[in-house]
Amino acid sequence: MTRKHNFSAGPAVLPTSVVEELREQLPDLHGTGIGLMEISHRSKVFDNIVSSAMERLGRVLGVPEDHRILFLQGGASLQFVMIAQNLLQGGSADYLDTGSWTSKSVGQANYFGSARTAFSGKADTYRTLPTPGGWERDPRAVYTYYCSNNTIFGTQYPSTPVPDGRLICDMSSDIASRPVDVARHDVIFAGAQKNLGPSGVTVVILSPWAMERAAQARDVPDMLSYGIHLAKGSLFNTPNTLGIFVLERVLAWVEDQGAASLATTNRRKAQKLYDLLDGSDFWQPHADRNCRSDMNVTWRLANNDLEGVVVEEALAADISGIKGHRSVGGLRASLYNACPEDSVDTLVDFLRDFERRRG
Ligand code: PMP
Repeated sequence: MTRKHNFSAGPAVLPTSVVEELREQLPDLHGTGIGLMEISHRSKVFDNIVSSAMERLGRVLGVPEDHRILFLQGGASLQFVMIAQNLLQGGSADYLDTGSWTSKSVGQANYFGSARTAFSGKADTYRTLPTPGGWERDPRAVYTYYCSNNTIFGTQYPSTPVPDGRLICDMSSDIASRPVDVARHDVIFAGAQKNLGPSGVTVVILSPWAMERAAQARDVPDMLSYGIHLAKGSLFNTPNTLGIFVLERVLAWVEDQGAASLATTNRRKAQKLYDLLDGSDFWQPHADRNCRSDMNVTWRLANNDLEGVVVEEALAADISGIKGHRSVGGLRASLYNACPEDSVDTLVDFLRDFERRRG
């Protein structure tokens, strides 16, 4: 199996061992004689997979006993809707707008109440984040909403930015990459396709407050109701069985590596790239130094004309996925948990050589 160095923002690189295991289980899952994509979601075998995935996620993140985990579909984007429909209930909430995904979430929440943009980094091309409590809070806000890591712009909060009150976090692009205080949050959600597995599964973690509040929501259709999905243990309708299998295997891999060790490696991988980018004016890192992401490193070239060239030459060197998001341009390398340090070293060497030739 020849695999390129994959820096894609998501779907993203998975641990090779998981991909190989998937290949083995596809025709015959755990010796049942039934293929992974062909087995019933009501079977005992699949039931065990769901339970194991929930237990592993609980251990990896340190989810408190009184919180509950859901595996849903519809991507992180559907959570923009479900959070507001189940929890806002016509009230108002404070949103910290630190990039495209938070702006989209504001738009969706406004269908169900009043989502106030309490902070906006837009004028600054989203290269900054607010400092803890660094915005005016609405005392009537039902919750504060933030995104821990902004995939497109490459910013990441160094720590939880909101000291108190009900708190919701879009953790799609840095979940399980570093320690997090789950108990501080009322909802954490993440599309799996960056750090946890393939697209098509969304992890949602709810606090007792979120569950109680959702239980009071009126006129919520079944598929959009946290209460229904909780009552049915994430099996209200046919789930993404393949996706949940891979999620469980990725979490086993995370546990084998050790979550703390992964966090240290993630820091080191990102620093290697930032050191190179800071080393000359040839490169221009996008995010402010105090909120740079360890997951998505974003930068431009002083000479814009070379941006297409570097992407093309990288591909010829088996380095894939470093083109920036279409909405901002430039370059981006996503360094999620499963991105090997060796890939980062290869990328850094390639960029150094490119600069030497073209600088
Ligand atoms: N939030 C963040 C931080 C993201 O990076 C993304 C997608 N890249 C989304 C939300 C939307 O996720 P999905 O495509 O799963 O709806």
